[in-house]
Amino acid sequence: MAKYVYGFGPTGTDGDASMKNLLGGKGANLAEMARLGLPVPAGFTITTDCCTAYFDEGGNFPKGLQAEVEAALKQTEEAMQMKYGDPENPLLISSRSGARQSMPGMMETVLNVGLCSATIPGLVKKSGNERFVYDAYRRLITMYSDVVMEKAEGLEPEEGKGIRVQLEKLMDALKQQKGYRSDTDLTADDLKQLCEAYKAKIKEVLGREFPDDAKQQLWGAVGAVFKSWNGKRAVSYRRIEGIPDDWGTAVNVQSMVFGNMGDTSATGVAFTRNPATGENKFYGEWLINAQGEDVVAGIRTPSPLNEETKNEQNQHLSSLEKEWPPLYQELVDIRDNLEKHYTDMQDIEFTIQEGRLYMLQCRSGKRTGTAALNMAMEMLDEGLIDERTAVMRVAPTQLDELLHPIVDPEAEKSAQSFVSGLPAGPGGACGQIVFTSNDAVKAAKEGKTCVLVREETNPEDVEGMRAAEGILTARGGMTSHAALVARGWGKCCIVGAGELKIDLDARTMTVGGKSFKEGDVITLNGTKGLAYAGAVKMMDATENPRFQEFMKIVDKHRTMGVRTNADTPEDAKLARDFGAEGIGLFRTEHMFYGAGADEALFQLRKMILSGNDEERNAAIDGLAPFVKKDIKDTLEAMDTLPVTVRLLDPPLHEFAPTSEGAQAAMAEALGITVDEVQDRVDSLHEVNPMMGHRGVRLGITYTTLTEMQIRAIFEAAAELQKAGKNPKPEIMVPVTCTVKELDFVKPIFDRVKQEVEQQSGVEVDCLYGTMIEIPRAALCADKMAQTAQFFSFGTNDLTQMGFGFSRDDIGGFLHDYLDEGILDADPFQTIDQEGVGQLIQMSVEKGRATRSDLKIGICGEQGGDPASVDFCFKTGLNYVSCSPYRVPIARLAAAQASVKAQK
Ligand code: ADP
Ligand code: MG
Ligand code: MG
Repeated sequence: MAKYVYGFGPTGTDGDASMKNLLGGKGANLAEMARLGLPVPAGFTITTDCCTAYFDEGGNFPKGLQAEVEAALKQTEEAMQMKYGDPENPLLISSRSGARQSMPGMMETVLNVGLCSATIPGLVKKSGNERFVYDAYRRLITMYSDVVMEKAEGLEPEEGKGIRVQLEKLMDALKQQKGYRSDTDLTADDLKQLCEAYKAKIKEVLGREFPDDAKQQLWGAVGAVFKSWNGKRAVSYRRIEGIPDDWGTAVNVQSMVFGNMGDTSATGVAFTRNPATGENKFYGEWLINAQGEDVVAGIRTPSPLNEETKNEQNQHLSSLEKEWPPLYQELVDIRDNLEKHYTDMQDIEFTIQEGRLYMLQCRSGKRTGTAALNMAMEMLDEGLIDERTAVMRVAPTQLDELLHPIVDPEAEKSAQSFVSGLPAGPGGACGQIVFTSNDAVKAAKEGKTCVLVREETNPEDVEGMRAAEGILTARGGMTSHAALVARGWGKCCIVGAGELKIDLDARTMTVGGKSFKEGDVITLNGTKGLAYAGAVKMMDATENPRFQEFMKIVDKHRTMGVRTNADTPEDAKLARDFGAEGIGLFRTEHMFYGAGADEALFQLRKMILSGNDEERNAAIDGLAPFVKKDIKDTLEAMDTLPVTVRLLDPPLHEFAPTSEGAQAAMAEALGITVDEVQDRVDSLHEVNPMMGHRGVRLGITYTTLTEMQIRAIFEAAAELQKAGKNPKPEIMVPVTCTVKELDFVKPIFDRVKQEVEQQSGVEVDCLYGTMIEIPRAALCADKMAQTAQFFSFGTNDLTQMGFGFSRDDIGGFLHDYLDEGILDADPFQTIDQEGVGQLIQMSVEKGRATRSDLKIGICGEQGGDPASVDFCFKTGLNYVSCSPYRVPIARLAAAQASVKAQK
């Protein structure tokens, strides 16, 4: 039978940090810290496998678990020299969730489990602190009724009607009645009274008694933690983060230590380095006489851990460094120890019980992209990590954030901020105010950018936080759950803007005398923690020398090429600055779209609508100079680097004139009537144009069109060479399905090459290749490679035709497919490795079997998606090509693929 329970603590530890899949991140690290000899309260971890078994058995604990738990509990009791459920010397425990990958605040934890009428008197006597015991009891009742009796039972009360809120209202009422300001003002008698009121309320609302039995509480809490894996928040977080549903959570049952035993007790959260900037400074918050979740829940403003952590909100509060130097020093030592051990920034939880320090958690801390970059580079300098590790430390998607907009410092100078808070997530955000998570999701669906404004940071808001451009809250600290989540996503976020008064019902907020309503535009500077009314100008993050240095290392470890998809010399230059090593896709037709395209488009239309070959050829001649100029400029911008020029691809009717004015101009140019123009436009109509007369098919019907394009490319290259440049054109034939199409066009290519070389007196090197974007071409890749010198996977069309999903119409059903788990991801964003990926693999194998030096790349949208880049590397592609802004992301993803392959 599988072992379901792993103990940890001073008297023996079964697990270690490598066992994250089985023990969850929290359990594995608790074990590791115990092994390092750190002061970890004893306990045991019930495995994620047990969670899976629990669900497989319809929400029943698997056989044998009870005996294992009893044995582990006994060991824990011995280590702590207390006994669970004992009337004299009662041990209390916490039941803590913890998945493989950290999901901060998304699942549940219950503290103080084991308090009941049998154990309360014993604990009062032993601690000599009645207030503490009833404080712990009211917390247990709150958490247990919320997590075990409500959430785990699948009850979903309306907003504001949940049992936790109802109990908190009772506490607020009592505080108000007594004129208290803080929860620490409540006396033992107050708390006793409150606990009775809580239990009565639970009976009234949930129709059941709060359980007064230690054993029952234990199993209730364990089961509820398992069930919280399928809680609403956890499920939406998993969707966003792409975490599989079948991982499950572990449960950590751990001896309680108490930060709420009075003024020599405290609890805190810290990061071994600053998670927002990456600075090598110990960073944290703590609260005296409090229990774990108080710090993150924003109940009181937490105090700064040290002088370096002080900011506007907490500078009046005393730091642990000042208050308790020896304890602070002990913590600093642990910090150093953990960083050396894990060689990464750690996010830690600690509790001080009557002057003694305990460690309750450590994990690799979530960080912003900026922090990830800075830490990786500094740790490399410190010799803590090597280059390959540094390359792995920044997620490719985090680079996006580094290249993302910030508030323009110039514009900011003249703007007046209306409120300040803690800079929890960096960058800038500008959008309309919304006050609920749902409204944020709705606004995003409508294509509006919005800023989510909330009273406090609440993990239930995860979807709205995701949808919003930025987040602003009135309460909460830098270590609050929502701040953690926002940072993990690199999202602009300000928390703890204490002067904000929010009226959720009226959908308004006021600060000082100023008031804002839903829909008003505000701008956030998440790096400084400042909010402005209206839209303040934004700009791209300025070139960071660290970033350049990091990318140099990245390129050192990268073996696969990265090109860009660019259609203009401007895009080509931009991409070159981002590190592109060539153009993987230059779409000739681009020159007929948009501003400045009138003249070229006019010529193209003349060609499309011409009535005979003579007319058509004349129009094609008129078109030639435009095509040549565009290609020449781009080849020049990419001098010395390869440029893949794709011959005309879209169906011609896309360019046909439809407006009266344009049709009249055409009529005049061709010397025909407007009605005749309309007739010719109509004759171009196709039922299914994307599968119609396009790509190479046009080139075969109109060979003079093909010839003109090829000549333009050769001439442009020859002219540049004569001017001392080194252009590297490659000609790519689109939408092919048989090698015979390539063989048909090839003689034109050869003849034009010879003619241009003769005329110009220079030799022009140019590869001849094809897109692989039709499944048949993939299947016949061995034959295609007989003529093609290179392949480029057009994964947009290959996906479209591989799945039979129209990429322009997938929006109608994609969300159903994703929600129902029929598709894991949008195959137009990330390559479907299972299906379309097979077509790619097969083409690579077959193509290289025919031509061993066949150059192969990808030019579809997915070329900038990290998972797709990884796949391309594994499949042996020579390069990926993506839009200019994604080039750094692709470079990093490619380097990470190489590093992983070397491991
Ligand atoms: P999360 O994953 O949401 O952080 P945790 O399981 O870490 O949930 O617990 C929530 C809070 O309770 C944390 O602040 C933690 O330090 C505290 N806590 C958990 N177990 C104990 C314990 N045995 N003794 C004291 N505090 C605890
Ligand atoms: Mg925690
Ligand atoms: Mg295509």
